[in-house]
Amino acid sequence: MGHAWMGKVLWVNLTAGTLTDKPINEEVYRKYLSGYGLASKLIFDHQPKGLPPLDPGNVFAVMSGLLTGTRAVFNGRWMIAGRSPLTGGWNDANCGGDFAPAIKACGYDGIFFVGKSEQPVYLLIDEDDKQLVDAGDLWGAKDAVETDEILRGTHGSRFRTMTIGAGGETLSPIACVVNAGGRVAGRGGLGALMGSKHLKALCLYGDCSVGVADDKALYAATRKFLTALEDDPGDFAIRLRTFGTSASTAEQAESGDSPIRNWAGKAGDFPRKEANRISDYAVIQYEQQKYHCVGCPIGCGAICRLPGEADLSETHRPEYETLCSFGTQLLCSDVKAIYRINELLNRAGIDTISCGVTIHWAYEAFERGIISEKDTGGIRLKWKDPEGALELVQQIIEDRDLGHDLRQGVRAAAEQFGDETLEFAMQVGGQELPMHDCRLDEPSRTALGIAYEAEPTPGRHTSMFYSWQNHIPVTGDEKPNASYGVLRGTSPFEIAPENTQKQAYYQWGASCGEDIVNGAGLCNFGFDLGPTLPLVEWLNAATGWTRPDGSPLDFNDYLRIGQRIKTVRHAFNIREGLAPAEIRLPARARSAPKDWDGIRKEYYRMMGWDQETAWPFPETLDDLGLEDVKQALYG
Ligand code: SF4
Repeated sequence: MGHAWMGKVLWVNLTAGTLTDKPINEEVYRKYLSGYGLASKLIFDHQPKGLPPLDPGNVFAVMSGLLTGTRAVFNGRWMIAGRSPLTGGWNDANCGGDFAPAIKACGYDGIFFVGKSEQPVYLLIDEDDKQLVDAGDLWGAKDAVETDEILRGTHGSRFRTMTIGAGGETLSPIACVVNAGGRVAGRGGLGALMGSKHLKALCLYGDCSVGVADDKALYAATRKFLTALEDDPGDFAIRLRTFGTSASTAEQAESGDSPIRNWAGKAGDFPRKEANRISDYAVIQYEQQKYHCVGCPIGCGAICRLPGEADLSETHRPEYETLCSFGTQLLCSDVKAIYRINELLNRAGIDTISCGVTIHWAYEAFERGIISEKDTGGIRLKWKDPEGALELVQQIIEDRDLGHDLRQGVRAAAEQFGDETLEFAMQVGGQELPMHDCRLDEPSRTALGIAYEAEPTPGRHTSMFYSWQNHIPVTGDEKPNASYGVLRGTSPFEIAPENTQKQAYYQWGASCGEDIVNGAGLCNFGFDLGPTLPLVEWLNAATGWTRPDGSPLDFNDYLRIGQRIKTVRHAFNIREGLAPAEIRLPARARSAPKDWDGIRKEYYRMMGWDQETAWPFPETLDDLGLEDVKQALYG
């Protein structure tokens, strides 16, 4: 018997070398769930405002999810959170693999690091024994994958690790964090925050189990879902199982989902015959073994071997984002080159999306004559040719030649070469844009584009819970019980069905819904399958939470928690001096006919934020029980 949460976090002061348990009471979980929701609360409370992003006073959080370790499935996502050196604002990044359950098995919902160790260290937890261990022989000498192998070789294969490579050690703002030799929490540069603390790795083993309020009900919901999945998995599940996210790379290039040639190309510029060479069968031909994140019935990963390529004898299959970034975008159909780039960047702990986007910018700058061989160390950058990209990747990892500028991210690189180059630096708020085009004329694409601008972590393709309306209880007249309301306005269910408002309503639910998913620690892919994931049943069975009248919580209640988490992450950015309402996509990434600004303002209104400044209104903060946030913003 328990309630899904472990009831404490570990607080590690790297300057003082102290490790302290901090209890968390139930009220905090009820307001923020766990995952990045809990991280947002503790970071907002404990991090002084206004410090530079890599100041030792900043907090770096490593989180599990509320449902991690229970008998739910798709529940093995771990998250990192802190201030981004790339955007200057709130950041969280999310990953599968095998690390999330290890955090809870050690008895914690999350581990928080402050300060900076004098010497490089790693955190070792072996059941009750916790210590910081000298990592001097790893730092500057071993990449992220080697570090995992060494730590597990030293301490035992039952340990799970999270590591950084050269990217994080040398403070590149596009550095990421790596688990299990190739699962990556990639976006926003938190590998650099970890590196700034001289923290090379976490290496965890514990044997705590996770209790829940009603295991029978939780497991029954899981069984029902798994039976339905077996009966009717849906096309997406079948393709995901077979090909991973490489499944539709060619279709995506053809349909316009994939940006092409730094967003200046159009669907069809990368012909199907070429695109097929970096899609599905062409990618899985090297597969040796499927890879499942812990608690996953699909298994979209794979370990691969490329014959005759010594450096690729055991490597993770590239994801769609990497295939598009170094394939479709560059008009390059050399799948082996993409495998190699993927391996190099995973080992260095550098985000393949951000790295790819900076390289697209460099290719275009070269084409325009803004940079030349003098800048690139003698190489020519030509669309279709992966050699230039391979060389730039090496330069970025080794911090030399043009790589010295590119490893700062595309906005900073463009600023070095003149403001006119910013126009084709495909970033928003400092974050490089992912490989999904928001210009397609579909509601979900418009929502994606607005999310790229308006989310607390801009420029992310994973910040929307598109299927949220599947989880709303319907009362009979097709109007859900909108008891949560919409602050300072009409309930979204009473809004006149004009496109701008409907679109903004969709935006609002998808935005708040995603914060539930991340508080719970679930994988987004779980919501794209034939049957609907029993999100509310799981959360209720795990926590035992009810309303004051004893009735069970419904999705609307959880949406309100999502709205609270979103508002705290958003308020963090405001407190750090960002002006969220001014964050805009580059003109090239916007489609003309949509009422972008109208939708965005309507979304702000539904969130209870000022339509011009995007500041949460004081009464919004009161209503969400965020008095401390109100105090921080308004005094
Ligand atoms: S679908 Fe893929 S990413 Fe999601 S939990 Fe399963 S293996 Fe991990």
